[in-house]
Amino acid sequence: MNLENLISEFTASFGANPRLFRAPGRVNLIGEHTDHDLGYVLPMAIDRAVCVAAAVSDSGIIRVRSLNEDDTVAIDLRSDARQTGWGRYIEGVARILMEKGYSVPGADLVIDSDVPVGAGLSSSAALETAVGLTLTELAGTTIDRVELARIGQRTEHEYVGVNCGIMDQYISANAVHGHALLIDCLTLESAPFPLPTDRYGVVICDTRVKHDLVMSAYNDRRRDYEEGIRMLRGSFPDLRHLRELTPSDLAGVESEIPEPSRRRARHVVAENARCLEAARRLGEGDLAGFGALMWESHASLRDDYEVSCQELDFLVERAREFGDAVLGSRMTGGGFGGSTVSFVARDSIEEFKSTISIAFEREFGHEPGFMVSEPAAGACEID
Ligand code: ADP
Ligand code: MG
Repeated sequence: MNLENLISEFTASFGANPRLFRAPGRVNLIGEHTDHDLGYVLPMAIDRAVCVAAAVSDSGIIRVRSLNEDDTVAIDLRSDARQTGWGRYIEGVARILMEKGYSVPGADLVIDSDVPVGAGLSSSAALETAVGLTLTELAGTTIDRVELARIGQRTEHEYVGVNCGIMDQYISANAVHGHALLIDCLTLESAPFPLPTDRYGVVICDTRVKHDLVMSAYNDRRRDYEEGIRMLRGSFPDLRHLRELTPSDLAGVESEIPEPSRRRARHVVAENARCLEAARRLGEGDLAGFGALMWESHASLRDDYEVSCQELDFLVERAREFGDAVLGSRMTGGGFGGSTVSFVARDSIEEFKSTISIAFEREFGHEPGFMVSEPAAGACEID
């Protein structure tokens, strides 16, 4: 990220001496399709971020210029006018902050980001988190990081119409450098676990496909496992979320649940258990054990939750062929396209990229995208 350029763009638009803030995108390592049912997830922040240059102004409005959108919006919190495009993310955060009693000053912001949009790395959560931190810091207040995440999530729900879980905003606000964060999406507590970045690189491989199914499949899956929970209450009357069951609890009664709800519940129950286990393995330095859970997670998303696709399965199968050089690999994010995440031995990364790139292009007619990321820190002011 070119901060010199960001500062000079700010100066050209609004005047001198802005403060600088950043909030990162993320990749989820394990615990996929568990956050909607308030289970466990284990994401890390990537070393790409939304950066903001900002200063208080006496205009009474929030003026925001995005270098990525090549556009400027002006938000007047005293008026009922509503933003339509990318300004919704800014407006949502500002209005919810105000509603919660924060003082939101008139301010000028310039935004620049190297989180690619729509690549499954959560540029929108990074934007919400960066703006929430900026506006509260400019007002001279300190916002609790869990509250900051919830305001970003509410922005998606109430101003954008995306019914997302808390993971993306939570990790962007709370990430710890060099670590993944185990997040309990029910209690909103979290704990950092060290990643083996001295020996392995985190390689994100983008299929560059987005199959059309995403929204409808998402709603179908949700309906399926909610149906599963209802039926399981026959055996477990107090059941609220699938995280309360172990895989063996479920195995004992799953024949009572019709398909496909049975498979959907099996994925969510097993994935919550795998996520907790994966964090424990990282804590113990059991890297092979951690990697094994990533492969298992992929198989479960493919066979039980059924949200993978040919391109994702192909990438994971090719990664398998690298033996010990790849600790683990799996699809990450919602599925039906998007990316895989793999832990690849540092000295095998170049070979991994070139071999897989050639094989993938031969099979699907285009190259996949690659990004190698360090686990970054959460949102902060930049000195
Ligand atoms: P993602 O998976 O990357 O979060 P979304 O569709 O949820 O994809 O969010 C992308 C949207 O967020 C963009 O279309 C844009 O409206 C907004 N956005 C993200 N980054 C920026 C930016 N740097 N400047 C302005 N808007 C942005
Ligand atoms: Mg998003």
